[in-house]
Parts: sequence; structure tokens; C-alpha cells
Amino acid sequence: MESQKTSVLYALKQQLRAIRLLHRICPGYFPTLFLYCLTAALSPYATVYCSARILSELAGARQAAALWTWAAITVAVIGLLQILKALFCQRKDTLLDDLFDRKDILFVRKMFSMDYASLEDREIQDLRAQLQQNEGWSGWGLMRTPQIFEEGVQAVIGICSGIALTVPLFLQPVPDSAGGLTLLNHPVFILLLAAVLLGISALGGRWESRVLHGWSSVRAEATFGNRVFGFFGFIGLHTGRAADMRIYGQQRLVDAYWNGNSVFGCDGPVAAAMAKARAGIYAGLSQAIFAVLTGLIYVFVCLKAWGGAFDIGAVTQYVGAVTALAMNVYGVWVRVGEMRTNCGYLDQTFQFLDLPNAMYQGSLTTEKRSDRQYEVEFRHVSFRYPGSENWALQDVSLKFEIGKRLAIVGENGSGKTTFIKLLCRLYDPQEGQILLNGIDIRKYSYRDYMQIFSVVFQDFQLLSQSLGSNVAGTLEYDRARVRRALEDAGLGERLQTMPQGLDTQLYKDFAENGVEISGGEAQKIAIARALYKNAPFIILDEPTAALDPIAEADIYSRFNEIAGDRTAIYISHRLSSCKFCDEIAVFDQGHIVQRGSHEALLQDSSGLYRRLWDAQAQYYVTESHGSDSRQGSMVPPP
Ligand code: ADP
Repeated sequence: MESQKTSVLYALKQQLRAIRLLHRICPGYFPTLFLYCLTAALSPYATVYCSARILSELAGARQAAALWTWAAITVAVIGLLQILKALFCQRKDTLLDDLFDRKDILFVRKMFSMDYASLEDREIQDLRAQLQQNEGWSGWGLMRTPQIFEEGVQAVIGICSGIALTVPLFLQPVPDSAGGLTLLNHPVFILLLAAVLLGISALGGRWESRVLHGWSSVRAEATFGNRVFGFFGFIGLHTGRAADMRIYGQQRLVDAYWNGNSVFGCDGPVAAAMAKARAGIYAGLSQAIFAVLTGLIYVFVCLKAWGGAFDIGAVTQYVGAVTALAMNVYGVWVRVGEMRTNCGYLDQTFQFLDLPNAMYQGSLTTEKRSDRQYEVEFRHVSFRYPGSENWALQDVSLKFEIGKRLAIVGENGSGKTTFIKLLCRLYDPQEGQILLNGIDIRKYSYRDYMQIFSVVFQDFQLLSQSLGSNVAGTLEYDRARVRRALEDAGLGERLQTMPQGLDTQLYKDFAENGVEISGGEAQKIAIARALYKNAPFIILDEPTAALDPIAEADIYSRFNEIAGDRTAIYISHRLSSCKFCDEIAVFDQGHIVQRGSHEALLQDSSGLYRRLWDAQAQYYVTESHGSDSRQGSMVPPP
């Protein structure tokens, strides 16, 4: 992901933004990490410095008192640094785990706040998946930043400490008595050593970066490989698929796919890319060049010591300090390369987090009306889905009569669900207006506007939480009201058999004693959730599709009573379910083609409603001859 144009400054700016974001989630992490880096970077230099002092004493004056003092200082300083380092290390690791856990909050919040249309946008979905895969494949992106910070800060502190310990190497001259070796006192050696050190470290760092870049260049193949592995590696565990796999012998297909997509194999694209980048050669070279550098440092320092510039203790100090200095300069180069590579991944992350939220900016509050007199009107509304050529709804005008029951019927794809999605402002129409009490719904605060709707969508979702929390949407709730909502939705008897009543956990994802519920039961819970919200509008989109005919008949026969003074909207393609409604709107290819009561619509023998009714009546009559007598109860009068 490293682009030739990524400047170091820009890469640094992006990492700093990542650090600021992560710092907001877990404020303790970076300060602790910094303290850890400080102790970790100082430790080796402290060791080098103290042991040099002891060696010098041993090789020089050999005074027992001085030796004892240095030994005590060494133990105290190194001991203290190590203890602090271990403590900070433990703490920063704990905080990092916490950060890993919670950094997804950033993405979850974004998903909740972004325009609904963006959620369905294929490119945005791909972008989110890509971010996750980048992280899964090699930790690139937001969570690479702490690592770069840790290694970068250690390297910078290391360079400062290294320079401090190296300065005397040049300040202590070889005495004149050493003859030709006095040449080493010439200032050009300072420049020469600095140039060799910087040059070799930089070269090593660049080679190492090439290896990193080589890895990063196969990102697309590797993330695909991970996806294949994630899917096919665990496919047998998925009970929903395991039965099909056994019955149709799909293992063969899985094997073929697996074998044909061996991304990480020796003959696969990852290995090929690494060979092309000569990753092994560069990794080896970058190590080898350090052996050369260490050799040169030894030669220079030992020659100065040979000439009498300093003693044996100082030799250890200078060799240790200059080698560590070189390693840290090398470290900074590697980090710069890593930062530039990571910059591309961060660009993607910020592209996602910066997606504009254009839709939900209205600020008008809806009136809190105890009389529930909310009047909603569609006025010449037309809508097509983003990226689609076809109108899903065209010139739809409809006014909801307060407290009435409206049914929306029509064949699949006629626009029923789209109509509800517009009503709930999941999308905005391209033409026409939707009005609440005469004001365009775009002007209202979205949160406020949503308060007036309870919707049971076809593809509703329950959470792996307690039954009561699912219904109430909160952890604390009015238990009596939740129980009543469940009873009204027809789950009363089942509730009696639940081991912990309202506290029973749904599903087994997070609780061993969680309860698996059937599709019909889930639908009843979703209906109870809509009832508990007690909003002025209740909307049921094919609410009974998963219910058996008896449960369906039961819900419908009682729904009038349950819905009370709410305005209720039912969507169904089972016409028999809707005949009790005050008004029925018949949708066809995005238009409302008929409106009226069930009886009135049946009168129109050439109308779509009549045709649909006849077709379904025929189906039910045929079915009722079958063995399941319950089907008979659903037969509408011909
Ligand atoms: P119904 O609820 O009556 O079955 P929908 O409202 O779901 O119909 O669909 C109306 C039309 O809009 C159909 O042609 C469908 O293919 C199209 N459509 C539905 N959802 C989307 C979407 N997310 N993106 C593009 N087209 C869609």
C-alpha cells in the first residue's frame, strides 16, 4: 500500500491521527506505552554504561570501595529499570487487549450513524470488509500504529542515549606517544563514522522495508486466501450447511476450491511475490551488513584504545553504544518505511470513518402528542435505489388515517417494503415529499421521528441477550409491560416454560443455557418488541410468514384489539390476512393501482386485487384437500 508519493510527513500525520483516535478510546494506553518505551530503551544503555565502569575499575585502579559502589549502582539502576519496564509492560499489554476489544466501537458507531443507503452500498461494504481483512491478514491499519509508536519511540530514545554515550569516544584523543594512531584524532573520523553508521543503517532499513513492502503487495491475494480459509476451514462446523454437505457429498467441491486456491502454498502467489521482491535476499543482506558495521566499529574503537585513548571498560561502552545507536538508526528507517506502508491502510480506514452522514441532519423535534394525532402523508413520491435504473416506487400518494388499519398488498417486488423503508426514512425519495403533520420529514430530528414508529421487518433480528431485554431494548425495563407484550404477541404459554422467564437468554452464543427458539417464536418476540415500544404507528411487514396457520389466525384475530388506537399498517401478499383492514392499497410495479375496502375491491372483477384473490383462493381450496386440516381454516370465502 506504500505509494511512491506518500511523504514521510503525511505518513506521520496519518499515524498521529490514528493515535489520537485510539487515545480517545483508551486514554491510559499511549502514556503507559511511552513510559514502557523509555524504560525499555534506557535499559541496554544503562547496562553498557555501568558494566563499562566496573571493567574500567578492574582494568585500572582496582579500588575495592569504588568497585563496590559501581556494583551497587549497577544493581540498583538496572534492577529498577527492569522492574519498571516489567510493570509498564504488563500494564500496556492489558491496555492493548482492551484497546483491541474496543477499537471496533469506532466502526460500530460509524455504521449506526451513517446513511442507511450507504450501508447497502456495495463499495462501502467492500471497504469495511477490506479494513477487517487488512487487520486479519497482517495487522495493518489502525492497530499497526501502536506497534510503530512503540518501536519508533524506543528507537528515538535509543538514538539520543546512544549519542550521549558515544560523544566521549571522540573527545578522548589518542596520545601523541601513539605515533601514527594519532591520525584517529582527526575530526574527519567523526564524520566518517557517522556517515558509515547512517549509510549502513539506512541501507539495512531500506532493505527491510522492501521485505515489508513485498508482503504488503500481495495484500489482495492474501486477504482472499484468508477469506477462503475462514469460510472453508470452518464450513463443517456450520450446522446449517453440514447437512447439505453430507447429503450431496459437497466435500469434493470444498476440496477442489481449497486446492485450487492455495494462496499461501509454496507455488502460490504469496510465495511468488516474495520471490519476485527477493525478500529472502534483502532480509539476509540487511542482517549481513550489520556484521560489517559492527566489525568497523570494533576496529575503530579498539585502535583508539590500542593507542591509549581510553581503557578496556570504555571499549565495551563505545562498542555497545555505537552498535545500539546503529541498530536504532536502522530501527527508525524501518519504522519510516512501515509508517509509509501503513499510511495507505490508514487512508482506507479514514475514508470509511469520514464517509459523510448527509441524511440525518434534521433538527426539528416532533411534538409529543398524547392524542397520537400524527398524520403522515406520501405526496407524489418516486424512488429508485442508489445505482438502480428502475423506479421501485413511482408517483405514490397516500395519507394515513389516524387510528385506522391499512393493508398494503401486491406481488413480490411491487414496492411494498420500499414504501415502508421510505416511511421510516431509511432512504429519501428522489421525487415528491413525505410529510408529518404537514412538514417534510427531512426537517425532523431522525431520532425523534423514529419514536413514532414500531416496525416488524421481514428480516428482523433478535440479539443473543435475555428475552426481556430483547423486547424492551434496554437492560432495565418494566417487567409487567414486557410480559403483557409477549402475551399479546402470543408467546404467553411459551414464556411459562422458559427456565428463567424474562431473564432467559436467547440463543447459545454467549450463554450455555441459552434457549434456541423457532422462527415462529422469534417472530412473536419481534412483534412483542414492536408492541412494547408503544409507538403511534405499528407496521408489520409480512409479520406472520414464519408462523403456522393457527398462530397466524390467532394474531390476526386479536390484532385489532392489540393495536388499539395506533395507526396500523400491514404488508402481506396473503390477502386473507388483510381483509379485516379499513383500507387496502394494492401495489403493482411501484404504483398504487387500487385502493378501497376488501369488499369494494372484490367487486372490481377486472382489478388486480380480485385476480390475486381468486388465485390465492384456488390455492387454499386445493391445499385444504390435503392431509393438513389446519390449512382448511385459512380458506377465504371464494
Ligand atoms: P416487495 O416488498 O413488494 O416484495 P420491494 O419493495 O422489496 O418489493 O422491491 C421493489 C423493487 O425494488 C423490486 O424491483 C426490487 O428488486 C427492488 N429492490 C428492493 N431492494 C433493493 C435494493 N436494496 N437495491 C436495489 N433494488 C432493490
